[in-house]
Parts: sequence; structure tokens; C-alpha cells
Amino acid sequence: MTPSFEALQKQLKLLPGVGYRSAERMAIHLLLEKPQSAEDLLASIQAAISRVKSCPNCGNICEEEDLCKICQNPKRNEDARLCIVEHVSDLMVMEKSGSYDGLYHVLGGKLSPINGIGPNDINFASLKPRIEKNSISEIILALTNDIEGEATCHYIGDALSDMDVTITRIGFGLPSGGSILYSDPVTLKSALDARKSI
Ligand SMILES: [Zn+2]
Repeated sequence: MTPSFEALQKQLKLLPGVGYRSAERMAIHLLLEKPQSAEDLLASIQAAISRVKSCPNCGNICEEEDLCKICQNPKRNEDARLCIVEHVSDLMVMEKSGSYDGLYHVLGGKLSPINGIGPNDINFASLKPRIEKNSISEIILALTNDIEGEATCHYIGDALSDMDVTITRIGFGLPSGGSILYSDPVTLKSALDARKSI
């Protein structure tokens, strides 16, 4: 171990899903076994940082365009449905499943009073104006099936109660505590088909 090696390992361990051992293996791979891959990784991170941004409309990933490809697509706007997800990775899973063709709204998290995360800490304020602007008729809540996901669904349901919009929730058929991130396309499609009004 050296100070620089430890510093890199510490940073790698901060990445989602990476434990101490994996971080150590990655650091050895990057620094000693395949130094060229470290250069390539660095270059692609720098390029992505300068180009990739968050869609100002929905929070999805976008690059050179003003809005993401989904927001720009007139067909996605036809249905007047808006699916609320926690993270861009959830949106990606939904897109890969091919079971949804409406619009999205990425919250960037969920409410968690215990951890001090309130409505102002997630992408919530822009939701109501979007519903009005896009003449949304149905909100589909596709949040994790746990206590915080439940609390977030209730909060959104209450906050939108004065609006002329149907609010439904998927998750029925998903395992308790399960995120849509880990659901296969068939389960996700049946969870979407079986969504219920809240
Ligand atoms: Zn967008």
C-alpha cells in the first residue's frame, strides 16, 4: 500500500456497488496491470463530464441537444402519460423493457425524513408545472416498493390531489423492497399493466 494507491482505492470504493476488495482489484488493474486502461478511463470520464448533462425538462441524461431524446419525441408526448422514477437507471430499465412509451420525470431520489431528505431535496418542484404544460392525464408512480417509496407516493398523491390527473402506482408483482432496477422486462410489463389508482 502507498498513499496514492490508498487514495484511489478509497475513491473507487465510493462508487455504487463497489466494496473494499473490488476497489483494491480495480486499483491494481488500473495502476499496475493495465496502465493504458487507466488513461482510457480518465479520457472517457473527462469527455463525459464535459458533455453529459441532465435534461432540464425530465432529469434524463442528454448530451448536445437542449432536451433529451424522449422529451423531444412527439410520439412520447401523444399519450399524455408521465412515469415518475427515482433514478435515471430506473428510466433506462423501463426503456430497455420496451413496455412504456410515455414521458418520464426523474426525482433523483425519494423522500426520507430519517435522512433529512424532503421535497426540496428531490426534483419535485418542477412536477406540477410539467403536468400543466404537457397536459398530462395520468401519473404513473414507479418507485421502490419500500417505506420511503411508499411515503414518496403518498406525498405526491396529496400534492397533486387538486389537479385533474389520474395517479396510478406500479409495484404490484415486484418484490417487497424491490426496485424496478432489478426487475426483468416481463415482470416490469406485468407490474405496469397491473398498476392501480391511489
Ligand atoms: Zn427529458
